[in-house]
Amino acid sequence: KTRNANEPEFLQAVTEVAESIFPFVEQNPIYRDNKVFERMVEPERAILFRVPWVNDKGEVEVNRGYRVQMNSAIGPYKGGLRFHPSVTLSVLKFLAFEQVFKNSLTGLPMGGGKGGSDFDPKGKSDNEVMRFCQSFMTELYRHVGADIDIPAGDIGVGKREIGYLFGQYKRIKGEFTGVLTGKGAEWGGSHIRPEATGYGLIYFVEEILKTQNLNMKDKIVTVSGSGNVAQFAVEKCIEKGAKVVTMSDSEGFIHDPQGIDSEKLAFIRDLKEVKRGRIKEYAKRFPGVTFYANERPWKIKCDIALPNATQNELNLEDASKLITNGCICVAEGANMPCTPEAVNAFNSSNIFYAPGKASNAGGVAVSGLEMSQNSQRYSWTREEVDQKLKKVMKDIHDICVKFGKDENGRVNYERGANIGGFVKIADAMLAQGVV
Ligand code: NDP
Repeated sequence: KTRNANEPEFLQAVTEVAESIFPFVEQNPIYRDNKVFERMVEPERAILFRVPWVNDKGEVEVNRGYRVQMNSAIGPYKGGLRFHPSVTLSVLKFLAFEQVFKNSLTGLPMGGGKGGSDFDPKGKSDNEVMRFCQSFMTELYRHVGADIDIPAGDIGVGKREIGYLFGQYKRIKGEFTGVLTGKGAEWGGSHIRPEATGYGLIYFVEEILKTQNLNMKDKIVTVSGSGNVAQFAVEKCIEKGAKVVTMSDSEGFIHDPQGIDSEKLAFIRDLKEVKRGRIKEYAKRFPGVTFYANERPWKIKCDIALPNATQNELNLEDASKLITNGCICVAEGANMPCTPEAVNAFNSSNIFYAPGKASNAGGVAVSGLEMSQNSQRYSWTREEVDQKLKKVMKDIHDICVKFGKDENGRVNYERGANIGGFVKIADAMLAQGVV
């Protein structure tokens, strides 16, 4: 705690994992005696660099770039890049730490990392975003590679940014390799990668519901966010016959009691991906919709809540409302969206709480499949990738049950995911000696 005193998000993520795995480590002293956890919380490497670029007015701007290479015990570093003004070393260390466990849970050979910049793509022209991405990659290229470290997208980094980053890497290195995932399907990307996190989230929720003989049909769902994860989670909910009544962005949320159907979702996709507009415009476009400025959707009664925007967006007060309103399941599409107090409240109630490292692992799983396809110079069909994604999410659910079931037969998904993710990495670290 002293060493990372200025890193609240990182300490939050580590404390959450430590609390659930310490009893397990005590029962298995080989991990304790070899200081496996103490090694896991120290990044193998963290790179920090200057990103200078020129805006459309011809002025010089300077941002800070990062890549945290957290753990390579089971494979090359793998994890997204985030471009958002709130990015700090602490945020990226928390994300990289979570990523290590998540990647382990997928069953694929991927270590964990995360990177990004405090650059804000909002309000920037395509040319400005391109110049920024080119400058960012002009330094990052030294530290990444198809067998070394394979970044992907995250908040503020979508297909457009991945394209500019990939173009610059290819230009500098003079080679076409799978150094980034989330590429366009025409130039090395995997089918289902854009959909994977959102779809995978719903596949995971279905597994949870199955344990209670329930399904998604007619369930009322509240969603936060309106970006990549949120859009495809909503798409899958609609397909499964559930009714999604909220979506949000950083300015507030919309409540549509009629439910967001495919046509309305197409409006949101166009609004966000093409027009880069704000969610409040949805309330102007469709009748009977209310926009709540600067609020989050957790006060709306629902069966299933999916926080899909950002960290710490659901606190104890929100959790209490969800519990009082009879919510059955809270599954994280975002990374660490629920505060520790909210998680504790869920785990002491009847709500099934799915931590992001398990429920949002579908994105990185399909990124892993994109790496396999790139290595083979081959492309699987949509159906093939979707089947593999379903299997990964089911397997992760099984791991959570194996390590998270208590004496009463109830599954604590948080404990299951943390211990299940830990064991594989810890054993690999033991096998590779003190490194
Ligand atoms: P996007 O940039 O596509 O969308 C992010 C959404 O969250 C936007 O609606 C955005 O609103 C909102 N948001 C971002 N920051 C804040 C904030 N501080 N307060 C309120 N709302 C905010 O990102 P993704 O959908 O890719 O990522 C969402 C979450 O899912 C993140 O936690 C990410 O780490 C996680 N995740 C993403 C994966 C992926 O494959 N993309 C994989 C696994 C996890 P606005 O437009 O106003 O900023």
